[in-house]
Parts: sequence; structure tokens; C-alpha cells
Amino acid sequence: MGSDALPRFTAGLADVPDALLEALSAPLVDHHVHTCFAGPLGRAEFEASLNEASPDPVPPFLTQFDGQLGFAVRRWCAPLLGLEPHAPADRYWARRMELGDEVVARTFLRSAGVDRWIVDPGYGGDRIVSTGTLAAWSGAPCSEVVRLEALGEELLASGVSAGDYPAAFRERLADPGSDVVGAKSIVAYRCGFDLEWSPPDDSVVRAEVRRWAAATGSAAPAMRSPLLSVFGIHAAVQAGLPVQLHVGLGDRDLDLHRVDPMLLLGLLRQPAVQRVPVLLLHCYPYHRQAGYLAQAFPSVYFDVGLAVNHVGVRSVEVVAEALELAPFAKQLYSSDAWGPPELHLLGSVLWRRAMARVLARWVREGDWALPDAVRVVHMIGRGNAERVYGLPR
Ligand SMILES: [Zn+2]
Repeated sequence: MGSDALPRFTAGLADVPDALLEALSAPLVDHHVHTCFAGPLGRAEFEASLNEASPDPVPPFLTQFDGQLGFAVRRWCAPLLGLEPHAPADRYWARRMELGDEVVARTFLRSAGVDRWIVDPGYGGDRIVSTGTLAAWSGAPCSEVVRLEALGEELLASGVSAGDYPAAFRERLADPGSDVVGAKSIVAYRCGFDLEWSPPDDSVVRAEVRRWAAATGSAAPAMRSPLLSVFGIHAAVQAGLPVQLHVGLGDRDLDLHRVDPMLLLGLLRQPAVQRVPVLLLHCYPYHRQAGYLAQAFPSVYFDVGLAVNHVGVRSVEVVAEALELAPFAKQLYSSDAWGPPELHLLGSVLWRRAMARVLARWVREGDWALPDAVRVVHMIGRGNAERVYGLPR
């Protein structure tokens, strides 16, 4: 996709060198993303989806349009629906309804300037479209990651016995399917990171699965066992898969104070774990810790997805902070969009704008050379993801 399809992400930015604009217009690899709503989508659900942390309905005294993300939607998404920038929320919503969910989704997905999505398909059920539909609507291929907790739940639900569980789990990861390029754990959500990170013996795993199965009965199993998540992560490491870990910001189910990535030191120091890439996802507000870990361990990578959307124009500062300690080969682009296709677009627009502002200033003031700025855009925008996941080039 060329720069024509992108919204004018440079509008209002002064003195951004052409070479940098050109580099930022190149297609991105979105290395951590989910699919979008299948529709029909109501305004209440749309607005609730602009809030990452609260599972409650939007209270009557406020609208989620009045926040950084809501302002960014009105600024950058409205023009793609034929409205003026900053169109009022009611007008935006009316236009969205008029066009219909699929047209809106196709418009935003195709305008994101992304030519490969690495999708976590494990959350959202029938509220969101399939990975195949995301590929069709966006015109860009998808790769996938295996969600480790979902794999455990699937094995238990399909009747795999506690005795067979460790081998069955490893077998699935050894042959996860041709589209799969990594594994992902949401242990942050289920348990936090203050865990015993040594690989558990299979006998201990079997006993834990037996307890889990007994407690679950006929209900749909939800894996909340730290031990089984830790087993799953080590199994993915053994299979040689890059391992993504949800870090930082999430909904309030997650104990944010227990997902500081510094609590991962006990895992990251293990020599076996250092043999595969470990990708710390989103990380905000711990992105500086993530940058430290990416400097400290050759195997550790990170991104500031999700936050870039939710902090809107303040993504300039978040992106600048992400460019502090870590070598530039250790950071990746992601939107972490889930639900409204506005988020798939906005992640890319806000990241591109932030990079343009931050890097143009450093070039202008003589701290960075322009060719270096161009190289760093390509590294973070796609090259690092291609290398880490072994993507086709
Ligand atoms: Zn995510």
C-alpha cells in the first residue's frame, strides 16, 4: 500500500524531511493485534470499547468521545468517512451508522498502511470477525499466535486427561499450523508476574490439571493456575516459538501493580528462555522498565501498542520514551487494536505521527543523521518483526 491510501498523517507537522515521510509511509507489520467487531455495533458498545480499563457501561454523565482516544477518532477517522476533521461525536456516529459496519471496517483497515497483521485470535468469540475476514477486509495477510491459556482450556474441554496433558500440550506447539509464528501468554491477567518461574515437573503439572478438572466440573474451563501458565510458557520456549507476554495496561481484572515486567527477571534469566525471543506487549506504564529489559537481555523485545491509541496525541511522549534505553533492533510496532476498526487505523496514524515529530526534531537539531532516522523507522516499523518471527519478506 502506498502513501496515497494513508490519511494525511503529517497534517500540521512542520519541517519533516521528505526521506523521513517516505519511510513512515511504507507499510508496517502490526505484530500484535486482534480482529475487529463483526457488527452490528451500537454506540454504547463502541464507546465502552474506547475504554481499556473499565468493564462497566459508560456512565451517563460522560462520553468516551471526551478523552484523548475519542478526540483522535474524531480527528483522524472522521475524514475517512467523508466528514471534516474533529466532526462532532453525534455526527461521526450518524455517518458511521449510515455507512454500515463492514464499509467502515474495510475503509479503516485498508487505510492503516499495514501489510501484515500478527493476530491473537484467542479473545472475543463471535463479537469479532475471523482472522480470514480481517485479511480479506484489509487486503493484507495475517499470521497468528497461539494463546497458551486458551490452548490449555481447549485441551481440557476436549477431554484430554491430566496424564496426557503435558505431552498433548507440547505436541500442539510442536506443530501449531503453518500460519502460526509465535505463542502468547496472558498470565499477567490471570495471575500477575510475581510467580515461581522454574519449569515445573510433568508430575506436578498432571496433579495441577487433575485439581483444575475437578474444580471445573462441566463448566467451561478458565485456566487461572500460575503453575500451568508457567508450564505453557516453558513448553513454547521448548518448541522454539517466540513468546509474547501481555505486560502493563489492561482491564481492571488485571492487578496492574503485579505486572511490572521487572517481576519477569526470574524467567528472563533462565538460559533456556534466552534462546527464544520474548516480546513484552504494550508495557505502558512500564515501558521504561521494558526498555531496560530489552537492553539487559538480547532475547527481549517490546512495543508500546495499545497505549499509543489510548493516550492519543500524548503518544508523542510515549514513543519518545520508548526510544530511550533499548537498542532500536529491540522494539516493534503494534496497535493492539481489538474491536472498533478505528483502532487498527489509529495505532498506525498516531505511531507514524509520533515518530515523525520525535525523529524530525532530533534530525533538525543535529542530534541524529537523517539516514539513521530512516533506518530506525524501517527497523521498528517492520524489519525487527520480520527477523524475530521469520516472516516472508
Ligand atoms: Zn493485546
